Amino acid sequence: MPPSTLDLHSHSTASDGKLAPAELVALAAEREIEVLGLTDHDTLAGVAEAQAAGRELGVRVVPGIEISARWPRGQCHLLAWLPEPVPEAFLAWTRERSADRAERARRMVGLLQEQGIAIEWDDVARLARGNVGRPHVADALIARGAARDRADAFERLVGSGCPAYIPSGKLEPEAAIGIAVEHGALVSLAHPYSLGLDGDDLDRAIARLAAAGLGAIEAHRGDQGPDEQVAYVALARRHGLLVTPGSDFHERGREDERMLGDDGRPGIAPDDREALLSRLPGAP
Ligand code: AMP
Ligand code: FE
Ligand code: FE
Ligand code: ZN
Repeated sequence: MPPSTLDLHSHSTASDGKLAPAELVALAAEREIEVLGLTDHDTLAGVAEAQAAGRELGVRVVPGIEISARWPRGQCHLLAWLPEPVPEAFLAWTRERSADRAERARRMVGLLQEQGIAIEWDDVARLARGNVGRPHVADALIARGAARDRADAFERLVGSGCPAYIPSGKLEPEAAIGIAVEHGALVSLAHPYSLGLDGDDLDRAIARLAAAGLGAIEAHRGDQGPDEQVAYVALARRHGLLVTPGSDFHERGREDERMLGDDGRPGIAPDDREALLSRLPGAP
């Protein structure tokens, strides 16, 4: 499948991605991606480097962020794309989120130690070049021989419901959406399946988020099949929302990883793509 020319969801070493921002943009150029949203977890720290590379390589890099919000079961991740220059007050707010992440990861290391696992905060800190997350904790566990691989680490130790799990995001979704929208962002619900809802429950949740200012749903992802994509497009239409495409790329060559630019099938329709581009902050 030819890559989509628009990928609004990607990660770099500013959070839990494996490519530096400039390397990610070089890959985007190689894959003929015209518009790339860099959406690291709770930070915009990689954006300046990515945009400098984008100017050289002819890739438009949209400043973005993936915000973790509180959700009772499952996860609520919100993608926000910001206007430029990104307002200083919003950047200051993201720095608080980064501090929350570091605090959470330290507490998770403490919980692992209480279970008798030999792991030190330094093991994790060495692996995180930007915002720390559970993948860094998982990799530190693997390096210590306390987990076989990431799947094992998430299944037994750091995954949702595990003994050392602490949810990320003390923030209510309405507050997260509110602050982003207040600063001119377009906000999309990432991997909607992770809310852990379907049918009327999902509809009610989307209505609640839309009332708070949600602007779109990430209907098109490489890990969402055609039936799911069509259902999410219909869900977006019912609530007057846009749809967004994203690979959620983190690194090359992982078995469970979508390649940069892969938004699955059928992918975003041309009309929806145009509507989205006209509403994306910084639209030419
Ligand atoms: P955090 O934001 O710190 O809660 O970490 C969430 C990140 O961990 C996600 O963005 C994925 O990159 C990764 N992740 C989540 N679940 C798994 C899993 N089961 N196996 C490997 N990586 C995972
Ligand atoms: Fe991630
Ligand atoms: Fe996510
Ligand atoms: Zn992501």
